[in-house]
Amino acid sequence: MPGYELIGKEELDEIKEIFNNGGILFRHGFDNLRSNIYKVKEFEKKFSQEISSNHCLAVTSGTAALRVALSALELQPDDEVITQAFTFVATVEAIIESRARPVCANIDSTLNLCPQDFRKRITNKTKAVIVVHMLGVPARLDEIKSICDEHNITLIEDTAWGCGGSFQNIKLGTYGDIGTFSFDFAKTITTGEGGMISFKDEVLYKKAAAWHDHGHENNPKVPRWEDTRSSSGFNYRMMELQGAVGLAQLNKLSFVVDAQRKNRDLIVNELKKIKNIVFREIPKDSFDTADALVFFVDSNSVAKKCRDSLLKIGISTKILPEAYTWHFAGTWNHMKELSDSHNNDLINDLRKSHEILSRSVAIPINVKMDAGMEKEIFKAISNVII
Ligand SMILES: *Cc1c(COP(=O)(O)O)cnc(C)c1O
Repeated sequence: MPGYELIGKEELDEIKEIFNNGGILFRHGFDNLRSNIYKVKEFEKKFSQEISSNHCLAVTSGTAALRVALSALELQPDDEVITQAFTFVATVEAIIESRARPVCANIDSTLNLCPQDFRKRITNKTKAVIVVHMLGVPARLDEIKSICDEHNITLIEDTAWGCGGSFQNIKLGTYGDIGTFSFDFAKTITTGEGGMISFKDEVLYKKAAAWHDHGHENNPKVPRWEDTRSSSGFNYRMMELQGAVGLAQLNKLSFVVDAQRKNRDLIVNELKKIKNIVFREIPKDSFDTADALVFFVDSNSVAKKCRDSLLKIGISTKILPEAYTWHFAGTWNHMKELSDSHNNDLINDLRKSHEILSRSVAIPINVKMDAGMEKEIFKAISNVII
């Protein structure tokens, strides 16, 4: 959850360094005025090191990260990009903005992409898949990657919720070809608004870097105004204040993930005492970020009762069950392009995901948890489902 729980002196000190050295807020140029301070560039470099990525590009949001990632694939209007039915609207919006056709596949008991359903939805137009590590749990990356390799499909990981997690000891966001991250205010680390993209391949990185900056190739041999270009682009550049906050937050990432995992374990150990409780499946060899703890109940009405019971002790649920229409593609009839791909019958075409999500409850995990809270949560849930 919680970068925002830990905003403080470290972030302010990073920002002060900019203002004490000329106050240059743009990531490029002004070389004589900035005492060699380039916060966005430094953030990209340190983030690459943190996740062992070949190339990282900072952008203005997680949504922009998805859009810029897709720009590198040079999609044509007939091309299809598959993602999962449980995600945030941004994932599908980025595909629509790229003028490709969005297609959603069902989730399984991991609440992430179901490899079998993904395989079924592949056509000869499928160019990429965006898997999402929802609420910090890795997708079944090994199975999905082998399907991608078989069909020559680019694997993009929407790691908005998985920053700091790993799968088979490989950091999330670097297992596939491209990984995207969000630093919005509700994500594991935050820059207020912001995002990052990780690339395995230098050619894709260079295309995306140019596209996110109006096509500027940032040719070191010429000044910016004489810069070379080979395509048009757009502006999704991160600015120095965000880079500064990101540097301070990045130093807190492992602390955040460790604290979340500890607090999650406390709650799991209590809830396990409830007979027959079924938790969300976590794929083998996963290191999840414990952003939320999800369990399944018998029906949507029981899920809502769990929420009401938690609210009475001052704890909210996270997305499930209350906000699932923002996160379940089966309800997105407002996206004509998506609906078209599903015979204008989204909810039926994604029935399996609907069945799982409608009886899921997600408890948000914070870094700072009051002592004994796990026992309160146990009481609130066991009142409803015993
Ligand atoms: C938050 C989120 C995004 C969008 O990130 P923003 O930084 O808010 O634009 C994209 N995908 C998923 C799965 C997210 O949770």
